[in-house]
Amino acid sequence: MMQSPATTIPALADFEAARVRIDGIIERTPMVASPSLAEHCGLPVLLKLEHRQTTGSFKLRGASNAVALLSEDERRRGVAAASTGNHGRALAHAARRKGIRAVICMSRLVPENKLAEIRRLGAEARIVGDSQDEAQEEVDRLVAQDGMVMVPPFDHAGVLAGQGTLGLEIVEQAPDAATILVPLSGGGLAAGIAAAAKALKPSIRVIGVSMRRGAAMKESLDAGRPVQVREYASLADSLGGGVGLDNRLTFAMCREHLDDVVLLSEDQIADGIRHLYRNEREVAEGAGAVGVGALVARRIRPQGTVVAVISGRNIDMDLHRRIVCGENPFAEEDAA
Ligand SMILES: *Cc1c(COP(=O)(O)O)cnc(C)c1O
Repeated sequence: MMQSPATTIPALADFEAARVRIDGIIERTPMVASPSLAEHCGLPVLLKLEHRQTTGSFKLRGASNAVALLSEDERRRGVAAASTGNHGRALAHAARRKGIRAVICMSRLVPENKLAEIRRLGAEARIVGDSQDEAQEEVDRLVAQDGMVMVPPFDHAGVLAGQGTLGLEIVEQAPDAATILVPLSGGGLAAGIAAAAKALKPSIRVIGVSMRRGAAMKESLDAGRPVQVREYASLADSLGGGVGLDNRLTFAMCREHLDDVVLLSEDQIADGIRHLYRNEREVAEGAGAVGVGALVARRIRPQGTVVAVISGRNIDMDLHRRIVCGENPFAEEDAA
């Protein structure tokens, strides 16, 4: 089959090809019912436990697919990315599996546990500046000067096709699903899931969920074009960062496929983490818990079976303990 270039919007055939390509590298994660959320919402609620994915997030799907698509020459030059953590970790893992050099650039906002994990996986980690955009400038330099291949965290057809394999799995595991709740940042996860799931089941609704402040995709969708947003420290640190002013794929796909976007306060995100821990016995990071947080706070009134995608679990365990014990170090910032 002809290979779609990195800037072409992926279609069902690309999601299916990606699934074959990453089979054996990624886990098919469980889909489980949540009786407590079903009672709370008065509807069947299912949880897609993608936080149990290898490396602790869905990002391994996209990174593995992108790495598998590299040419021999590109493999020799190595891969580079800017990442708030989980993409970097996934790319480091995928590159190491194939014996490829990986350089991960990130802003100072990245939590220590994520940085340590990337280094442990054998990748070079570079901390540059206070924003994803500054980290991206370093990646651009590595591409221009050292000939490395950029594997961006979301705006790339191979990455998107990999994330979309989750959409295929969701429709197979939950054929009754009417609404899917997806954590939303740059939109690779939401666009991939929505495009794949709607290709199989056009009636399905996909709702993006972000934190209230610094929700780059929501602000961009409202503005009708990609806009720059200020970054804030958030419990959902994996949802930070911009969509890229030169965004080529995910902005258009989110505009086409997302039925709604809901924004949560830091306390609502904390409640999502607490619910997952106390009622479901699951450890999720803030970004991974926003779908559940939206249901707990009744911010979404869905009809029919709901699937909440738990996208990651890479939270500092000391912070997690404090949150499940009732604290929230990010809460006071809600007052601002
Ligand atoms: C990256 C990430 C997201 C958001 O994915 P995008 O493709 O950037 O929208 C959500 N949850 C977790 C855990 C992540 O690592």
